[in-house]
Amino acid sequence: MDQKDKLSPVEGIKIESDYLRGGIAEQLLQTASNHFEKPEAQLLKFHGTYQQDDRELRTASHDGGKSEKQFSFMVRSRIPGGKLSAQQLLAHLDLCDSLGNSTLKITTRQGLQLHGISKGNLRECIQRINQAQLTTLAACGDVNRNTMCCPAPFGDPIRQQMQQLCDAIADHLAPATRAYYELWVKEEGSEEKVLAGGAPESEVVEPIYGKTYLPRKFKIGMALPEDNCIDIHTQDLGFLADVGDGGIRGFNVLVGGGFGMTPAAKKTFPALSQPMAWATPEQVVEVAEAVVKAQRDWGNRADRKVARLKYLIAERGVAWFRERVEEHLGYSLKDPAPIQVEGVEHHLGWAKQADGRWFYGLNVENGRLYDSDDRRWKDCFRAICSELSPSMRLTAQQSIIFFDLEADQRGQLEGIILRHGLPLSEQLTPARKWSMACVALPTCSLAITESERVLPGVIDQLDAAMAARGLEASELTVRMTGCPNGCARPYNADIAFVGKAKGRYTLYVGGNLIGTRLAFIFRDLVPLEELVPTLEPLFDAYRDQRLSVDERFGDFCDRVGLDQLLALSPAT
Ligand code: SF4
Repeated sequence: MDQKDKLSPVEGIKIESDYLRGGIAEQLLQTASNHFEKPEAQLLKFHGTYQQDDRELRTASHDGGKSEKQFSFMVRSRIPGGKLSAQQLLAHLDLCDSLGNSTLKITTRQGLQLHGISKGNLRECIQRINQAQLTTLAACGDVNRNTMCCPAPFGDPIRQQMQQLCDAIADHLAPATRAYYELWVKEEGSEEKVLAGGAPESEVVEPIYGKTYLPRKFKIGMALPEDNCIDIHTQDLGFLADVGDGGIRGFNVLVGGGFGMTPAAKKTFPALSQPMAWATPEQVVEVAEAVVKAQRDWGNRADRKVARLKYLIAERGVAWFRERVEEHLGYSLKDPAPIQVEGVEHHLGWAKQADGRWFYGLNVENGRLYDSDDRRWKDCFRAICSELSPSMRLTAQQSIIFFDLEADQRGQLEGIILRHGLPLSEQLTPARKWSMACVALPTCSLAITESERVLPGVIDQLDAAMAARGLEASELTVRMTGCPNGCARPYNADIAFVGKAKGRYTLYVGGNLIGTRLAFIFRDLVPLEELVPTLEPLFDAYRDQRLSVDERFGDFCDRVGLDQLLALSPAT
């Protein structure tokens, strides 16, 4: 970044914070207030929590701005590679019932998210997550977020090695400040470790991040060419496995992916990551550190809208960035290997493990675990934990895998699922299996439209429209977000609905199932009820004009092009 640029206000908050402390401790004790001041609300993100106010309650209690907003907190647990024990899941279910709003959310980055935590319960909530041997540190904030990895527990040595590397990256890039421990974990009256030493303070406390951490959030994921289930091209940094001779030879290092954008700001855009270099498995952690440090040093700290690594790559190029990475490494990297993403799996349904046991991927619609009269997700998961005590992993499509099940437990698992009113994954249409939605209204402060609460109904319509044309077996990704920030990764989907104005969406088509191509805008400001009707002429054309049954909907839209698609479907 050019030093003459003025630092953004958030940079000042970080500098002044004494490594993420700020006034959080003092404000936690102020029980008369239901929220934190703005600087502390920024710092809380690094601790894994967002201060939010319920948008519906805000409207309902409007009294000329005199009353305090109904603030509560989203608390996100960082779960590298989605690896979760039954006890940890149960702890989160108990937390969502005792301290939260009774719904637990599986995130699109293999994490868990609680909503509706009050300020008075925040410390207890985070402390109990730590007691369950998980952390919320760096689940949000300008640091490396949850590191993603293919969760499929086949038991093959390649995926196992990737999960080990995923953990190593997550551990190595975790913030080192003691602030988290002091604020949330330390028991009253216990001894505090005082850091000391001759090195500069920033190197002692945060040897990788320094006082100001990163310019913006940072996302890392690991994938296989034949299985891009973690959407590697949407990550700031991706490691794509180069497999041969029975093991992992190395990884292509991909940089510069990211989907957040602001439509009004033309300088912002979604981007897919590009290959930069090749690294051995032994080099992966130090390469990750070097990439993070290069972004730390050169990322934009004046304008947070363009602070992600993708903007630095767009401005300076991959070759320039690789030189900066190699300066930190002190050696040159090899060029990328000729490999690329070629496939994707959702890991739903039954599959056999290498040891002869079984795993089952259960689709959790939009990642929402709740209990209603007809669908009892939480009761179901509690029953699975108590009756079968399986190991489990969270997927990048907001679903869950139960594994290490014996053959004679398969029927038992299916029985538990069905008796709680939930569908087996095999009973779902492809569109529903591949659909994702962010939380949006009422809790996300940036949401413009509904998302997870309305997508199931939109999928109902979409399924009916496709079935009416004999397209019910077509696989396609359908993603919805409540604003253009893109938390549910809409911009490489076959079909995406992105909230743009009240009740209206930008409709994207033309991405692909394997996540290697950006979608394009088909129509803008489409009312919710018009989303599927607007697509129906395209489905007609797809049925009649696709090259073969193997040509997917997004591929068809991309081949035909925007002009022809617009001619098919008059604007409403
Ligand atoms: Fe909130 Fe927008 Fe992210 Fe949805 S995409 S969770 S509305 S910031």
